[in-house]
Amino acid sequence: MKTARISNGKEFPIGKILCIGRNYVDHISELGNELPTAPVIFMKPATSVIYDGEEVLIPAYSDNCHHEAELALLIGARCKGVAEKDALAHVAGYGVAIDLTLRDVQDGLKKKGLPWDIAKGFDTACPLSTFVPAAEVADPQNLNIRLTVNGELRQNGSTALMINPAARLISHLAAIFTLEPGDIILTGTPAGVSRITAGDRVCAEIPGVGRVEVRVGQGV
Ligand code: MG
Repeated sequence: MKTARISNGKEFPIGKILCIGRNYVDHISELGNELPTAPVIFMKPATSVIYDGEEVLIPAYSDNCHHEAELALLIGARCKGVAEKDALAHVAGYGVAIDLTLRDVQDGLKKKGLPWDIAKGFDTACPLSTFVPAAEVADPQNLNIRLTVNGELRQNGSTALMINPAARLISHLAAIFTLEPGDIILTGTPAGVSRITAGDRVCAEIPGVGRVEVRVGQGV
């Protein structure tokens, strides 16, 4: 079973991984998407999680895998129907994740109006850092988020630029889904997404929050 680990030693079995698409204007622009009127929501299964030092395996059905570095929220308390002002009290920890996306597969699915699961939820599609306790993060909307490929900086954004901040996302999601301890929310990616291929080393980091580095291989 996949777990989410906090640096204070606490560990949660991972429940559902709720992901937000199109939450930074600069990333929406680079892909030519329209500004959403409500958060775009999709899920990854817990089986897609890998940890620092492990290997991404790009499925053979894709020829264009993109990295998306994202602030990850680890839910620590059950909630349903929570106001935005009370939402962050349900966060046990903050971390960083890479929302790996098979862009060619996703583009094909989008055109047909089909769900994105096979583009976003394959095994190894969610590299995840250790989390820091929520109390150690003074303001989740004032964090630098960066990603390098083979040491070259590709993404360098700020969580200040989110369209919907973390508290609003939790409130929105908790109106639809019961959030439970061990659930994780990926909050969207800033600009700079690009293709990765076998042999690359990818490192996502939010200073003071988390770091995850993975190597990239070819899957079957
Ligand atoms: Mg994403």
